[in-house]
Amino acid sequence: MNKKKERNYRRILLKISGESLSGEAGYGIDSASLKYVVEELIEAKKIVPEIGVVVGGGNIFRGINSPEFSIEKKSGDYMGMLATVINGIALRDALINKGVKADVLNSFDITPFAEGCTPSKALNKLKEGKIVIFTGGTGHPFFTTDTTGVLRALEINAEAFFKATKVDGVYSKDPKKDKNATKYESLTYDEAIAKKLNVMDQTAIALAREANLTLHIFNFFEKGNLAKELKGKRTGSVVKGG
Ligand code: UDP
Repeated sequence: MNKKKERNYRRILLKISGESLSGEAGYGIDSASLKYVVEELIEAKKIVPEIGVVVGGGNIFRGINSPEFSIEKKSGDYMGMLATVINGIALRDALINKGVKADVLNSFDITPFAEGCTPSKALNKLKEGKIVIFTGGTGHPFFTTDTTGVLRALEINAEAFFKATKVDGVYSKDPKKDKNATKYESLTYDEAIAKKLNVMDQTAIALAREANLTLHIFNFFEKGNLAKELKGKRTGSVVKGG
């Protein structure tokens, strides 16, 4: 085993998309998918003591789809942010049900469903051993939960950011559509931005570049991949400074 590659993270941020919770249906919350996410988090918690999770809302609503419904973009974005709250509450309860301490911190006032998010509150909860689920995105339209993930990672001083996806990393083209797509093991922030790869939001990458936060993009749906990533075994791609 290559000792150099072993890592001992103390605090990380995991971004999971709403899709992670919807399974085959692609919409709503599927109990088997929720169970899978919980199982992967239970394993992750054995490796990393402090875990923050940013959850997306795309399984319920995405602002980008709002014109199809004659909904104004801003309203669609608020609907998307509210969707993340629904997912976060589901994930919190599913974790607690399995004996894992967890809490939701939301970016805007949504009393009584969740407490408001401040970095100090998040850090206190992380130190108490809770998985902190950040919901409500940034609290502002025109952003995504990828950007929220990087923002929260910086606020809690996470050592690294992990984006759970359906593909096993960053490819030159969409690997599902193009057989010639090649996988990048590692690329710089500038390369990731210049190539306009749609695996991660450009604003999120730019924000990570400012703070030199390493981004790990991996296939969350292959069981055990999250644990491997957290032990420093690369299964996906890494975006970092040059
Ligand atoms: N959203 C927003 N501001 C944020 C984060 C999210 O307006 O800071 C809205 C936006 O409409 C987005 C939706 O919430 O489409 C769901 O988030 P996202 O698409 O990032 O979820 P995911 O694809 O990860 O499930």
